[in-house]
Amino acid sequence: MSQVQKPTFKEKYDNFINGEFVAPVKGEYFDNVSPVDGKIFTKAARSSEEDVNLALDAAHAAFPTWSTTSATERSNMLLKIAQVMEDNFEYLATLETIDNGKPIREARAADIPYCIDHFRYFAGVIRADEGTISEHDKDTVSIALHEPVGVVGEIIPWNFPLLMLAWKVAPALAAGCTAVVKPAEQTPTSVMCFMELIKDVLPKGVLNIVTGFGAEAGEALATSKRVAKLSFTGSTETGRKVMHNAAENIIPLTLELGGKSPNVFFSSVADQDDNFFDKAIEGALMFALNQGEICTSPSRILVQEDIADKFIEKMQERLAAVKTGHPLDPETMIGSQVSKAQFEKIMNYIKIGREEGAEVLAGGEAGNYEGEIKDGYYIQPTVLKGKNDMRVFQEEIFGPVVSLTTFKTVEEAIELANDTAYGLGAGVWSRDAHELYQVPRAIQAGRVWVNQYHTYPAHAPFGGVKESGFGRENHKMALDHYRVVKNMLISYSKDAV
Ligand code: NAD
Repeated sequence: MSQVQKPTFKEKYDNFINGEFVAPVKGEYFDNVSPVDGKIFTKAARSSEEDVNLALDAAHAAFPTWSTTSATERSNMLLKIAQVMEDNFEYLATLETIDNGKPIREARAADIPYCIDHFRYFAGVIRADEGTISEHDKDTVSIALHEPVGVVGEIIPWNFPLLMLAWKVAPALAAGCTAVVKPAEQTPTSVMCFMELIKDVLPKGVLNIVTGFGAEAGEALATSKRVAKLSFTGSTETGRKVMHNAAENIIPLTLELGGKSPNVFFSSVADQDDNFFDKAIEGALMFALNQGEICTSPSRILVQEDIADKFIEKMQERLAAVKTGHPLDPETMIGSQVSKAQFEKIMNYIKIGREEGAEVLAGGEAGNYEGEIKDGYYIQPTVLKGKNDMRVFQEEIFGPVVSLTTFKTVEEAIELANDTAYGLGAGVWSRDAHELYQVPRAIQAGRVWVNQYHTYPAHAPFGGVKESGFGRENHKMALDHYRVVKNMLISYSKDAV
């Protein structure tokens, strides 16, 4: 199948502040490398504290008007953003592939459609939103009003650059907040190209984007006293720092951090050699979706001992048929890791797994390709069999590597599933009603997929427990992270008390 054509990029991309593209104050830019071929394809603004402050000036200036703009008008603007995305669907999917290395097949099937739906969902939510009112006695009424928290700082990762922006920006703007967003330094370009498309949709200053490094632009935003709320997605290590920053300023924070999600397969999945068993094996292969660069990646397979051999054999057969390689080939299912650093980190974990005594059941090597993609960062989907106390079962690898172990009983499955510092996602697969209800209830995770995995509807709450963070994105409850409740307690009595 022929590859999708690359769009033309500008030599460099500036920040988007107060409705305009603005050069960084210090005039510095950094290279953006496409993981598809390992080559520099453009540059992005290397922002400093001065740039973050300019963006905050714009967001503060826009806040009084935006926060009092009617829900109908705000909703219509979010719908317009969704429409612009739909009108530029192929362009945006291609950008995401070039910036991140993910296969275009996935950008078309997930990243861009989920973004569009996200803006539409929050456009709808604010039209249906209501506060509460209660009568305390015959003369006293209590009204709970939701007010936007103010100017928010949103720090996003590189694994789903546009979707993570949508997850944070759609509810923030819907709630009436204005925002300053800092994309990841590995993937600044798709976000800036998206801003070129929507630059006239929102009033000036409502949405501002400042690119740059975490220790520079990211830290300047996270430590600013002019931010009323922080929302962060990324590593647990950085999340911990951001939490310290939020504590210094006593502001609310939501954190979506790492994971080591268990995917639990009970023997009944293999009772019959039917579509359901095939579906379960597809669920096991989800560890390699987006090259494993997903915080909810089901990176630990727990399989009931009596079906382990049959399960592994079927999984190996299915993995052999997965097409890996050029991300712009529409048939490719696994593309490139995001960066050289990430590639090296993952390869090192495979080495650690081998040294710990894990058995390599599939993959284990870099994907060596010829031609245009020979300098990209490709890794074969890898299955390591071992024990849950190994580092490859406990530490987030964030690559197409799954660690597999077996269990005998329901109790043991639950114990292994919860034997992790993280608590983001989990999967449970069975044909037994008891297991399908009791096991998800016992697993410590914010999202448990039951007989499915890796679906992210805008109207299902998403977030973590334990070291995976707190707060929820998606679902209308995400709005409440961007608002504060104002209570008006009214007396209608004329009598002195
Ligand atoms: P990171 O957490 O350092 O980066 C995420 C975002 O935070 C980026 O925009 C970055 O610029 C910013 N940032 C970094 N330091 C900051 C600081 N001190 N203050 C404010 N912002 C800061 O992640 P990384 O270094 O790109 O990746 C490291 C590991 O994190 C990965 O290997 C993976 O395990 C994990 N990760 C998880 C997710 C997720 O969705 N949970 C996403 C990306 C990476």
